[in-house]
Amino acid sequence: MASKSSETLRQVQAQIKEACDLLGLNNNYYEILKQPLRTLEVTVPVKMDDGTVRVFTGYRSHHNDVMGPAKGGLRYHPDVDFDEVKTLSMWMTFKCSAIGLPYGGAKGGITVDPKELSAGELERLTRAFTRAMSDFIGDDRDIPAGDVGTNAQVMAWIYDEMSKQKGYNMPGVVTGKPVSIGGSLGRTEATGRGVIIALREAAKRLGIETKGATVALQGYGNVGSHAGMLAEELLGAKVVGVQDHTGGVYNENGLDAKALAAYVAENGGVKGYPGSTRELTRDELFGLDVDFLIPAALENQITDENEHVIKAKILVEAANGPTTASASKKLWDRGVFVVPDILANAGGVTVSYFEWVQNLQNFYWSLEEVNGRLERLMVEAFDAIYEQHNELKIDMRTSAYVLAIRRLAEAMELRGWA
Ligand code: GLU
Repeated sequence: MASKSSETLRQVQAQIKEACDLLGLNNNYYEILKQPLRTLEVTVPVKMDDGTVRVFTGYRSHHNDVMGPAKGGLRYHPDVDFDEVKTLSMWMTFKCSAIGLPYGGAKGGITVDPKELSAGELERLTRAFTRAMSDFIGDDRDIPAGDVGTNAQVMAWIYDEMSKQKGYNMPGVVTGKPVSIGGSLGRTEATGRGVIIALREAAKRLGIETKGATVALQGYGNVGSHAGMLAEELLGAKVVGVQDHTGGVYNENGLDAKALAAYVAENGGVKGYPGSTRELTRDELFGLDVDFLIPAALENQITDENEHVIKAKILVEAANGPTTASASKKLWDRGVFVVPDILANAGGVTVSYFEWVQNLQNFYWSLEEVNGRLERLMVEAFDAIYEQHNELKIDMRTSAYVLAIRRLAEAMELRGWA
C-alpha cells in the first residue's frame, strides 16, 4: 500500500494538473511542476550524551526556483519522510507565488522526535545537518526557517554553523532567528496573524460577525496559540475548544487563549488545563458547533472519514495540508468556506521574506512596518484569490493554485523553461 505521504504527494499532483488544465497550459508546465527540481538526502551521525552514536536521516527538497531562491521550513518530527518533505516543498512554491514573494519553494526535515533529545544533542544534530546541507542552502539559493519541531534557537544554530563554514556572518541564510541576532520583529506570531487576517477577510465576505463568534483550534504550538490569542484580541472571537497531541479542552464561555498558551508553555500541551470544563477527542473538536475551525497541527487530519462531523462555517487551514483533497471538495460543496493553506498560513513565510530583506540590507524595521506590510500582502492575495473564485466559479483552493501557477508559468515561459 502507498504510504500516507506518497498519497498526499499524489493529491498535490492532481491539484497541480487541475490548475494547469484550467489555465489551458501545455503539458510541459505540469511535467516540470509535478516533482522537485532537486533534492538532498543525508545521513547525520550524532554523538549522544551517553557516548553512543545515533544515525539520523535528513532531507531537503527544492521544488521550483523559477521565482527566486527556494524557501521553506525545517521539520523535526518522527513521521518525516522524503515524500512528505517533497510535498511540503511543493506547497511552499505555490504559497510564495500566490502571495507574490520572489521565492521558490523548499522544505527539509529530519526523522526525529526532538522531545527525546537533550539541548546539547539537538544542537549537535542541527549543526551536523547544517554542515551536510552547506552547499545546498545559502542566502542566495535556499533559505530554511522553522516548522513543526524547530524554533528560533535551532535557527540560531544554523545561522552560526553556516557562518563558521563560510568564514563570515551570513544572517540571511535562515529566517525565524531570535530578534537579537537578526530576526525580524513580528516573525514569531506572523503565521498566526496571517491566519487571523485571512479569517477576518473570509468572514467579511460571508457577512459573519466575528465579535463573539466561536473558534475551535487543533494544535496549540506556535501557529495555533498565536492564532487563538489574535482571534480573541483582533476579532473579539472566543476560543472554546482546543485539541493537541496531549488531549482536548473545552469551555463554552471561552478558554482564555492567552492563559492557555502560558499553560502549554509550562506543561507541554493542553491536557489538564484548569480553565477547561470537559475533555475532547480530535473528532469531537472537529464536530463542535462553532463558527470557525482552525486546524493548526499536521497534514491529513480532516479526511473522508471525519469531514461530515464539521459544522463550522469557515475552515481556515493554518497547518499545511490538514484537509485531504477529497474532504476539502466535500466540505466546499456543502457550504463550508475553506480558506486553503497556501493562502491562510502564508503570513509566516511573508515575514520570513521581510526578515531576509532586512538581513541583506542590514536595515531593520519597526513592528508597525512589519505588520503593516504583512496586512497589505495578505489582503491583496485574499482579494485576488476571492475575486477569481467568483469569476471562474471555482473553490478557494483551486483559485489559489490557478493564481500561483499562472505566475509560475509566465516566469517559466519567459525564462525559456517551457
Ligand atoms: N514553515 C513555514 C511554512 O510552512 C514557514 C516557512 C518559512 O518561513 O520559510 O510556511
